[in-house]
Amino acid sequence: MAHAPEMPERYVCTNCLIMSAGIVEHVDGSHHYEPPPRCGACDENAFVTEEQYPHQHAETGTTD
Ligand SMILES: [Zn+2]
Repeated sequence: MAHAPEMPERYVCTNCLIMSAGIVEHVDGSHHYEPPPRCGACDENAFVTEEQYPHQHAETGTTD
């Protein structure tokens, strides 16, 4: 939704929870992001986008 070309999509490996930057793909003058072919840490390719991943650690400022 947000057009933020300088901000690559980020992917979370659901196996080891390491976050990796997406790989930009240029298609028809536009671009989108693909997950890396494999996780650099555990060698799995079980990526979901950061958006899709449940926010377990992403919640900041829990000033309750
Ligand atoms: Zn992994």
